[in-house]
Amino acid sequence: MKKILIIGAGGVGQVVTHKCAQHPEIFGSITLASRTKSKCDAITADIKRRHNVDVATAAVDADNVRELVSLMNDVKPDLLIHVALPYQDLTIMDACLEAGVSYIDTANYEHPDEAKFCYAPQWEYDERFRKAGICALLGAGFDPGQTNVYTAYAKKHHFDVMETVDIIDCNAGDHGYPFATNFNPEINIREVSAKGRFYENGTWHETDPLSVKKVFDFPCGIGEKDMYLLYHEEMESLIKHYPEVKRMRFWMTFGQSYLTHLKVLENVGMTRIAPVMFQGREIVPLQFLKSLLPDPASLGERTKGKTCIGIWVVGKQNGIDKTYYLYNVCDHEESYRETGAQAISYTTGAPCALAAKLLLTGTWSGNGVFNMEQMDPDPFMNEIGDWGLKWVESFPAVKEF
Ligand code: NDP
Repeated sequence: MKKILIIGAGGVGQVVTHKCAQHPEIFGSITLASRTKSKCDAITADIKRRHNVDVATAAVDADNVRELVSLMNDVKPDLLIHVALPYQDLTIMDACLEAGVSYIDTANYEHPDEAKFCYAPQWEYDERFRKAGICALLGAGFDPGQTNVYTAYAKKHHFDVMETVDIIDCNAGDHGYPFATNFNPEINIREVSAKGRFYENGTWHETDPLSVKKVFDFPCGIGEKDMYLLYHEEMESLIKHYPEVKRMRFWMTFGQSYLTHLKVLENVGMTRIAPVMFQGREIVPLQFLKSLLPDPASLGERTKGKTCIGIWVVGKQNGIDKTYYLYNVCDHEESYRETGAQAISYTTGAPCALAAKLLLTGTWSGNGVFNMEQMDPDPFMNEIGDWGLKWVESFPAVKEF
């Protein structure tokens, strides 16, 4: 029976904690810590009600290595799951090194002053984690996370060569607000308003934000949706680990109302991350905007509809052309009924909790810093359906969607 420490009591933290509490045979002792302890207490009270499992709580500032080390020395976890914000990746990795505790996260490091996602700062920890004899598993949500496992599974079972990989992320949920984000608004808007980028023939190509659009006909009654080319972090590690891929792109669906609001907010400067002076004090417009928007955690009970996230791979097996579409469909209302959180948090938290199980049981192992595709995909694919995210595969007759 293992001890786990979860940092971050947002929507994702809520799902991870629920999922771990549903598996007491693995997670014998759970502690949830975050900046605001009352948020941890609210989650753990709900878990006690639903599962009759006790979860300990604590306050911690994850920007502060000393506080983190002291908490780990008290809790003595076998593994730390970081589901606070990407700004804290490096302080938490530093603290894990000092305390000798393995680490999982779901988003790669970002500096608060620069909307730039890249794995380099975390990959640089590889040697130190190897020497310390501990593991850091990066990007263990859905995308990144399950999409990386899907890619590894596609390569292992269906392709000798993968020529193109498209990651396709659809949120067809409706929360009834004209504008809200399904996860942390600051992180979400930074991601979406950044330039698009895709990989082709050995180089990265940049596109203006949300300037490349396609229509995709999603399964399970979702139907046709507009989706836009974005840069997304898992492409960096997937290209590194599958250099055979000639082209890789990432697509995400957005509704017209979301895009119109985003455009207006951008045009008036509300999405800026550089500080401005307001009534004698510095404020960051995007942080101010975040304080006005609905808390993503409050969207759960209002959101109806489904998500559909998957990969579309074209390549060859035994010299024969093949197209492979592998995806999951997750229902917002079902996610809410089970965990009190909507499907964006659910699809991030469930794979993260399963990855934690696979590390704690030694099914996945390694010293150093890893991305999800470096682990054997089979144990994850065998179990993820039982953790709430069944996968579906199909072999479309066309190459391009
Ligand atoms: P939320 O904003 O809902 O929650 C973040 C939590 O972290 C809050 O409880 C917050 O506390 C806490 N926190 C923030 N700063 C600190 C700090 N310095 N010390 C301690 N706690 C802190 O975010 P989500 O739950 O939606 O997302 C969590 C993570 O998951 C993010 O990194 C996000 O990028 C990632 N994600 C990954 C996805 C994937 O598929 N891979 C998809 C969706 C999200 P407080 O409330 O007190 O501020």
